[in-house]
Amino acid sequence: MAELRKDPVSGNWCVVGYTIIKRSSLGICPFCPGNENLTPPTIKEIKNEDGTWAVRCFPASNPIFIIEAQENKRGEGIYDKMDNVGAHEIIVENPNHSKTMSGFTEKEFRYIVDLYSDRIADLKKDRRLKYILVFKNHGELAGSYIFHPHSHVLATPIIPQRLELELYNSHIHYAKKDRCLLCDIISQELRQNKRVVSINNNFLAFCPFASRFPFEVWILPRYHSADFESLTEEEKKIDFINILASIMKRIERLTNAYTIVIHTSPNMKKTPWQEDDITVDDYFHWHIEILPRDLRYSKYKREDEFYVIPTTPEESASMLRSERV
Ligand SMILES: [Zn+2]
Ligand SMILES: [Zn+2]
Ligand SMILES: [Zn+2]
Repeated sequence: MAELRKDPVSGNWCVVGYTIIKRSSLGICPFCPGNENLTPPTIKEIKNEDGTWAVRCFPASNPIFIIEAQENKRGEGIYDKMDNVGAHEIIVENPNHSKTMSGFTEKEFRYIVDLYSDRIADLKKDRRLKYILVFKNHGELAGSYIFHPHSHVLATPIIPQRLELELYNSHIHYAKKDRCLLCDIISQELRQNKRVVSINNNFLAFCPFASRFPFEVWILPRYHSADFESLTEEEKKIDFINILASIMKRIERLTNAYTIVIHTSPNMKKTPWQEDDITVDDYFHWHIEILPRDLRYSKYKREDEFYVIPTTPEESASMLRSERV
C-alpha cells in the first residue's frame, strides 16, 4: 500500500510502497485504437470529424494517487505521513502509435492543449487537492516504458517541492519589487538575447540561465498569466502551439529522451507561508519546462542535488536556433 511520507529535514514528500509495472513486455499496446478495453473507461476524449478519438483521457490503471482515498493525515513521532489521495490520469496524445511530438500537426497539438486545460480546470475543483501536475516522459532514458505518445496528469494533496521553491522565490521577488519574477526574466532575456531560442507575439522559448540539462528549454507567455488553463484566446493559443511545435522539432533532432512538465499555479490563491495578501495570480507565471534526458549527449551528473552539464545554455540556445525546422 503506497503512502506519502514527508522528510522533515528537506521538507520533501515521497510516495513510498508504489509498485512500478513495466508493461512493454505484454507485446500489445493498450493505448492503440481498438484496444480501449485494455484501459479503464474514458474520462474525456476529443473526437475527429469521422467519430474516432483524436486524444483520450482515462484513469491510470496503476495510479500513484487514488481519488477514492482520504488524506488520513497522521504522525509517527517526528514524522508526517498521509494516504496517497489524489488522481492519476493518462492522456493518449495521438491515435498513431509511433508519432512523436515533432510530427504532430497544429490541429493535433490543439487537441492536446485543450485536453490538458480541461483536466487541470476540472481537477482544480477538488478542494482536497493542492496541485495538478501535467507531464510527459518520452524515451526509455526518461523513464517511459510505453512508446505510444502519452502524458500523465497527477493531482496531488501536497505541492511538489520544485513548485514550492518556484512559488517561494516568485513570492519573495514580488513582495520586494512589486513585479513578477518571470516577467522580469523575460525582459532581461530579450534584452541580452543570448539564450533565446524562439519568439513570437505572445510566447518566448529560451534556455534558462542555470540550466540543469543541455538543451533545457522553458516556454512561457510574454504577458503575465498564472494559469495554463486560462490559455483560451485563439491568437495566444496559436502562438503557443506554433512555438511548442517548433521547439519540439528542434529538441527531437538533438535528443531522443526528454521530460516535458507544465508549471501552472496551485489550487490555492495564497501559499501557507505567506503573511501578506498578494495572490499567486500576481506573482506566479505559468511556463512549460522541456528537460532533455538523453545520456548520449548529456553527460550530466546529479550528485547531491548539483547538476553538472557540459554544454552552456548559451551554446544550447545557439545549437537549437540553428536547427532548420
Ligand atoms: Zn500504441
Ligand atoms: Zn509574470
Ligand atoms: Zn518551473
